[in-house]
Amino acid sequence: PGTDHVLEVNNIEVIYNKVVQALRGLSLVVPRGQIVALLGSNGAGKSTTLKAISGLLALEDGELKSGSISFNGQSTARLAPQQLVRQGLSHVMEGRRIFEDLTVEENLVTASYALTGRGGVKPDFDLVYSYFPRLHERCKGLAGYLSGGEQQMLAIGRALLAQPQLILLDEPSLGLSPKLVEDIFTIIARINAERGVSMLLVEQNATLALAVAHSGYIMENGKIVIDGSAERLAGDPDVREFYLGVG
Ligand code: ATP
Repeated sequence: PGTDHVLEVNNIEVIYNKVVQALRGLSLVVPRGQIVALLGSNGAGKSTTLKAISGLLALEDGELKSGSISFNGQSTARLAPQQLVRQGLSHVMEGRRIFEDLTVEENLVTASYALTGRGGVKPDFDLVYSYFPRLHERCKGLAGYLSGGEQQMLAIGRALLAQPQLILLDEPSLGLSPKLVEDIFTIIARINAERGVSMLLVEQNATLALAVAHSGYIMENGKIVIDGSAERLAGDPDVREFYLGVG
């Protein structure tokens, strides 16, 4: 018994190009159904943590040297990124990585092909458009012509098609206007509350992240230095001064 964790990361170490040690014994958990914020300054290792979990490290010559990661109680060590996606673990990467030369709708179709391996299953466009009506309005338009915020919506919408249990979200607010950031965070909170999707949220805007998260971790130099409920972290004077920049 005890808490049900959709994700457990235990003491992982990651090295890039056989020399740069980016993670130095990092551990964290994501309780099922919760949003967990992962905070810390530039270069602390937040994106690396997400890549280690989703299996995308290898694309950048990164290597998981030690430690373990389990998703739904099962080790991810032998699973390819695409298998993890099919099992319900989606990674929305920094910079969005949508196909700019395809329409919004084609981006969603492509994502769903990748998911099923063939064209058999009709993508659940309605689900995506219910959270992002703006994407419906632009569905025949090229993704490359979308605004930054709309591209972020498309990236999250694409992740939703996989019916994920856990979404790893890397800097959803990056480059967006304050109004759009607010919109995106409202939708993130809704997806969590309405669909029970757990999230591990990397975000520069710590105040905002802690406003939607249930709990949080603060990283420094490749490991966790502070953790606690979102409420406690947001109210802790030291955390506010040194990590949130709102002392
Ligand atoms: P940011 O918010 O700036 O992206 P971060 O906390 O996400 O910061 P990471 O991107 O995970 O940090 O980087 C952690 C460390 O690993 C940094 O020292 C970085 O220079 C290094 N690093 C990241 N990616 C690579 C790579 N592909 N090759 C070599 N070193 C890398």
